[in-house]
Amino acid sequence: MKKIPLFNLALENNPLKIKIMKSWSEIYDNNSFTSGKETIKFEKDFSNLCNTRYALGVHSGTDSLIITLKAAGIKSGDEVITTPCTFTATTDAIIHSGAKPIFADVDQKTGNILPDEIENKITSKTKAILLVHLYGVPCEMDKIKKIAKNHKIFIIEDSSHAHGSLYKGKPVGSFGLAGCFSLYPSKPLGSMGNAGVITSNNKAFIDKARSYANHGILIHKNKYEHFRVGFNKLIDNLQSAVLIHKIPTLKQKIVKKISIAKKYNEAFSKIDEPGMYWPNNTEPSLYVYSIQTKKIKEYREHFSKHSIEANSYYPIPLHLQPSLKFLGYKKGDFPNAEKFFSQTLSIPLFPQLTESEVNHIVKTISLLKKNN
Ligand SMILES: *Cc1c(COP(=O)(O)O)cnc(C)c1O
Repeated sequence: MKKIPLFNLALENNPLKIKIMKSWSEIYDNNSFTSGKETIKFEKDFSNLCNTRYALGVHSGTDSLIITLKAAGIKSGDEVITTPCTFTATTDAIIHSGAKPIFADVDQKTGNILPDEIENKITSKTKAILLVHLYGVPCEMDKIKKIAKNHKIFIIEDSSHAHGSLYKGKPVGSFGLAGCFSLYPSKPLGSMGNAGVITSNNKAFIDKARSYANHGILIHKNKYEHFRVGFNKLIDNLQSAVLIHKIPTLKQKIVKKISIAKKYNEAFSKIDEPGMYWPNNTEPSLYVYSIQTKKIKEYREHFSKHSIEANSYYPIPLHLQPSLKFLGYKKGDFPNAEKFFSQTLSIPLFPQLTESEVNHIVKTISLLKKNN
């Protein structure tokens, strides 16, 4: 049997090939490569998806974070509370802003930052909470919103795993000052290169972010008059065109992934493993299907023997990364985060999995018991 991969980019992109090639051909003929007509449409479609007033397309997820922190006025001497259970870009962006990342421990079942731990870390220097909806499962937004309001600090949602995820029916990226999304090809909504997007309901903020992303110019003003020291980070038309074609397919893909994940969960429950957890009041985009288990090595070998890829995303929590040693954290500082990332194991989850592949994975899960 051919190995079932964790994710299959070709199956994701092939159905859209003709449409995308047609759009790219028009862009080529018009020589309109940089941000333009397609970008305007993409931003409108993405803000509709997130139910926010504004969206701003940028070069990458990392850039969406850097521009957001800059436009939020976060600078040297400030503190930003964040999670050790994420991809390195979340924290790197805080450091590039000049601020200090302050980690707070996570929930053992979701790997998401804990509201009580956030509250414990707030000081007079705290300017923002930069949270991550890990694997697409939304954080506890009601509690986090209350904390942010009480302490007058910003919420910034790194939603790079969570395009289209809902918390109590409301899309992520719409809860705070800004939502930041990576549109890297493998993310729940992916471009065909590098791209990212920022969402917001705050006009002053998004205007400032747009200016920072475009050399500090102001729209409707002279393009050679620069009002702030900016960057060159706007999304281009080629990536915008891809995303315009992909956004309409997202909702259905999420529904399909949730239904497959529920089948895996049922199979795991029969062998007394909890499967993947998400709260009842959420509908996660499920960037990956990931369980918590002490038997990572054993399980990975079992799946591999049955031609199923299984792997761990982000095995090292950020406070233990060599790049962040200068922050002075050590092993044991965030026990939940350390445990969560040492026990995270993912198996294939994508909407194009065939029924027989899903059945094979379910059966392979049920065989785990006999092995133990
Ligand atoms: C992928 C990712 C990023 C970075 O996005 P890029 O588009 O690769 O720059 C940031 N945060 C999280 C949580 C991510 O998974």
